Parts: sequence; C-alpha cells; structure tokens
Amino acid sequence: MLNLVMLGSPGAGKGTQAAVLSGRYGIPHISTGDIFRQNLADNTALGQKARDFMNEGLLVPDNVTEAMVEDRLNQGDTARGFILDGFPRNIAQGYALTHMLEQRHAALQAVIYINVAHGLLVRRLVGRRVCVDCGAGYHVEFDAPVTADVCSACGGRLVQRADDEPDTVETRLRVYHEQTAPLIEFYRSRSLLHEVDGNGPVTDVTAAIVGIVEAVDD
Ligand code: AMP
Repeated sequence: MLNLVMLGSPGAGKGTQAAVLSGRYGIPHISTGDIFRQNLADNTALGQKARDFMNEGLLVPDNVTEAMVEDRLNQGDTARGFILDGFPRNIAQGYALTHMLEQRHAALQAVIYINVAHGLLVRRLVGRRVCVDCGAGYHVEFDAPVTADVCSACGGRLVQRADDEPDTVETRLRVYHEQTAPLIEFYRSRSLLHEVDGNGPVTDVTAAIVGIVEAVDD
C-alpha cells in the first residue's frame, strides 16, 4: 500500500511528478484540479458549483471538494494506493483526509513537499499552455512546442488555462500561502513530511522523490 500526498504551491511540479510516480508504481494519480476541470468541460452539476471559484483562483468549498475526493478514493483502483495532487489544500481538508483514511483503516505513507522559489513559480505558471484537443501540456519558455501555439503531438490549438493568467496566478499564490502552506507544519508535526528541492530539472526532482518513496514503502 502506497498512499502519497503531493504538497506544494501551484507551479511546483506536483502534477508532473505525480504522473511519473503513477506510472512507476502503478497507482492512480488523483488530481482534484483535473477532476474539477473535467467536470467544467462536461458542464456537470459539480462543474457548475466549482466554475466561479476556479476562474478566480479561489478554493472550491470544502464540502464539495471533500465529497468528490471521497468518491474518487472509493473507486477500486485505489486498493494498492494513490497519489493525491492538489488535496488537501487547507487544514480542514487535512483533517477530512485523515478521517477518510481512518474509516478505510488506511494511512498516508508520506507527504512529498516540493519547494520552489517564488519567482520561478510565477514564470512556470504564466508560461503554461495546454492543447484543447489532447490535453498535452507545454511551456512557452521551458518546453516549447515545435510551432508556436500548435500541439506537437496532435496539431491542436494551444491555450492558456484561464487561471494561469497573471492576475489569477497572483490570487492562487496568495491562497496557497494563506491556506495551503500551513499544511507543511501539519504534516511535519505528524512525521510525514518529506521536503524536496523542486527548482531543478524534472528528472532530478523525480530521483529525489523516488529515494524518499523507496525508504518509506514497505
Ligand atoms: P490545480 O490544478 O490543482 O491548480 O487546481 C485548479 C483549481 O481547482 C484551484 O485553483 C481551485 O479552484 C480548484 N481546486 C483544486 N483542488 C482543490 C481543493 N483541494 N480544494 C478546493 N479547490 C480546489
């Protein structure tokens, strides 16, 4: 059983690393942001509840988010573990997760905190682009497509997520500092926190995380 939480600011690389770890360990990558975006695209009732909060860079209310995560954790593919990316996002969600796991007689093995310098976070976030057709991710500065604004994989159009525009990025970083960063101490005091330097190349960060996971995995 390998239950992991990825913690860190928007733009820290949680999603990138969670995707790599998911492939490596064969456990699902559960991104609350991705689930919300999918519901937005499908215009579900959940998507409608989340839309305004997301577009402004604010947190979706806890009751909505927690119910969604609980549903997701109840799916069969989490039997051998999971990687949570984007949840918990505040202390109340931290307690809610503890409660959900206790009910399943499960626990977290580690919380991976990816620490990245503020200036780099802003550059990473405002430069992100995503393909409207296949969802592939790019970066205008760090991972540019062959042709500007065109997906190298499928030829689709590349767009900026509404919440990656500069004003919203500022709000998301503020929300992170006010509401999410206190989880660092929350998990440190429970001896679950493992900090990695997220400023370097993706492969270096992966290597650091794999070292931590191998040490905690039984
Ligand atoms: P992300 O892709 O993780 O940056 O999430 C995008 C947006 O989805 C956030 O800015 C929030 O509006 C919403 N969201 C994602 N995860 C959560 C969460 N755990 N609690 C509340 N809102 C969330």
